[in-house]
Amino acid sequence: MQYLEKIKIDSSRLFMGDAVPEIYYHDTYVKNIKPVYAVALPKTHDEVKALVHYAVEKDLVIIARGAGTGVAGSQVPIQGNELIIDVHLMDNILELDEETLTLTVEPGVLVGTIHDYVEKKGYFYPPDPASKHSTIGGNVATNAGGLRAVKYGTTRDYIRELTVVLPTAEEMTLGSLNIKSSSGYDLKDLFIGSEGTLGITTKIRLKLIPLPKASVTILQAFETVQQATQATLAILKSGADPSGVELFERSALYYAEQNLGYPLKSQVGEAYLMISLDGNDQDELSHRIALAETVTHALIMESHVLTADEAKRNWALRDNILLGLTAFTEFELLDEVVPINKFAELIEATKEMQKKHGLNVLNFGHAGDGNVHTLLMKDDLTEEQWTQRRAALLKDLYQKVADLGGLPSAEHGIGIIKKEYMNTMTEDINLDYMRQIKRVFDPDDRLNPGKVF
Ligand SMILES: Cc1cc2nc3c(=O)[nH]c(=O)nc-3n(C[C@H](O)[C@H](O)[C@H](O)COP(=O)(O)OP(=O)(O)OC[C@H]3O[C@@H](n4cnc5c(N)ncnc54)[C@H](O)[C@@H]3O)c2cc1C
Repeated sequence: MQYLEKIKIDSSRLFMGDAVPEIYYHDTYVKNIKPVYAVALPKTHDEVKALVHYAVEKDLVIIARGAGTGVAGSQVPIQGNELIIDVHLMDNILELDEETLTLTVEPGVLVGTIHDYVEKKGYFYPPDPASKHSTIGGNVATNAGGLRAVKYGTTRDYIRELTVVLPTAEEMTLGSLNIKSSSGYDLKDLFIGSEGTLGITTKIRLKLIPLPKASVTILQAFETVQQATQATLAILKSGADPSGVELFERSALYYAEQNLGYPLKSQVGEAYLMISLDGNDQDELSHRIALAETVTHALIMESHVLTADEAKRNWALRDNILLGLTAFTEFELLDEVVPINKFAELIEATKEMQKKHGLNVLNFGHAGDGNVHTLLMKDDLTEEQWTQRRAALLKDLYQKVADLGGLPSAEHGIGIIKKEYMNTMTEDINLDYMRQIKRVFDPDDRLNPGKVF
């Protein structure tokens, strides 16, 4: 008990038994969550360390949690009797270092807050998951991608240094301020995307870049989703250098329109692209806009270069697709990724599977980087039909993804929801070494066991 006493966490930050708030027992994607041992909300690195010491002493399983927006079940307790260490109150921005272009933050800072903070000072943190209300610690743990990965990469590309508490209660700093390193194994990269199975991140030093001086969004409407995917490839090859190419079907966007209460700027066609371009020179940007419009001209029904205000409203609709669906209907969300030249083939295959299995399939996603969010819609199916048809379709779909050289998750993580497909789509030797690495850092299997593999 010595460690829990040291923590001195008052009752407003420690919940046990019936006092555990309902939010920890609710998840859109995982049902039947079992009672946890406790939920603790530390405010400092030392409190996290003391909590992990306590868990070691009591032999408790630990789960780190940020904002709980994860969509793969990796932050969800599945055993019963877990200690949840929820770091969302560790939300201080610690230091903006304008000489090294880095920002040091605690793990509970929301990614939307980071964007606002740095952009006001003329800097840019490019990773941009649609969930602006997710924490940076969660983004690191899932290697979050989002809307600008096509030009700027994912969270991994913007992490200079991590401070972590290991499941043994030791602490470690990973990475450094140096831009280059050829100095041994890169342990930092190992922790990024490890879904809270190797350590609890308590401090993060992010890389920033100067904020582009101008940006613009083009909204294009297409008669079919296949034409939208052809246009994507044409834009990527054109030299227009987009920072994002987002694709969505009208029927997926419908729920966002209902949720936010206003329509997309374009109301024709069945599929849309939202293409974002940024740069520092207005003439050069205008040239790239013209390129994107020229190479898609034969495919489009409509093309709009949006004003700043229109861009804000239309991006809000795009960001709201998932929240809109969650508010109005039941569905399963996938996160597969294929090489960019196979994107169109995958979308077409999902449409064939829709017919074959009698289950409505919608697609939206980050077309510019090959990451599709396929949605399986329950609609009016009975529970039995839904369970059977979904299982059959998922089997076909992940087989197709594997055949195309793709992966089961691009940015949401494996969690528990995609474990089965991770296992079948990954070579045994790779899985075996991943398990061995887990044992090195977590010999007692204390941190988020049963997730990923
Ligand atoms: C509406 C919506 C839109 C989304 N859009 C995108 C998108 O465009 N791109 C994208 O990549 N994702 C997206 N997501 C998924 C989700 O927001 C991300 O996975 C996010 O990175 C999770 O952050 P979180 O703070 O909510 O973490 P949580 O859900 O709390 O946890 C997720 C994982 O991170 C681990 N974790 C959390 N904090 C820490 C820590 N400090 N140390 C160690 N491990 C930790 C947890 O153990 C768990 O494994 C979306 C989700 C929603 C609901």
